[in-house]
Amino acid sequence: MKNCIFCQIVRGERKADIVYEDEQALAFKDIHPQARIHLLIIPKKHISSLQEMKKEDEGLIGHLVFVAKKIAEAKGLRGYHLVFNVGSEGGQMVFHIHLHLLSADAKLRL
Ligand code: 5GP
Ligand code: ZN
Repeated sequence: MKNCIFCQIVRGERKADIVYEDEQALAFKDIHPQARIHLLIIPKKHISSLQEMKKEDEGLIGHLVFVAKKIAEAKGLRGYHLVFNVGSEGGQMVFHIHLHLLSADAKLRL
């Protein structure tokens, strides 16, 4: 999507501190971290919200969770929160699905 800021990050048109990338997903640091470690894991495919998720996207959304787990494991995080904000009433501000990975684990740096 042309005007979507996360699609712009996927296309390399907008700067981001990318920590993980594969064919389907991208993970980068949140620009306004709410925890010592705060990453956003997104699908490269534009889906505006979990409210718009289709049956066919099940695997892709599951992949985001698996990527979060892999990053946490690689970095030795001992515990973390995974959050989807869904819809503006659910605190969603950017309408391209993203999974927040938050951790207070102070010993580690991503
Ligand atoms: P939401 O409230 O939609 O669940 O979360 C959107 C998140 O995206 C916020 O935590 C916000 O700080 C982050 N964010 C917004 N714009 C940018 C950006 O241009 N770059 C990065 N890295 N994060 C962003
Ligand atoms: Zn998008």
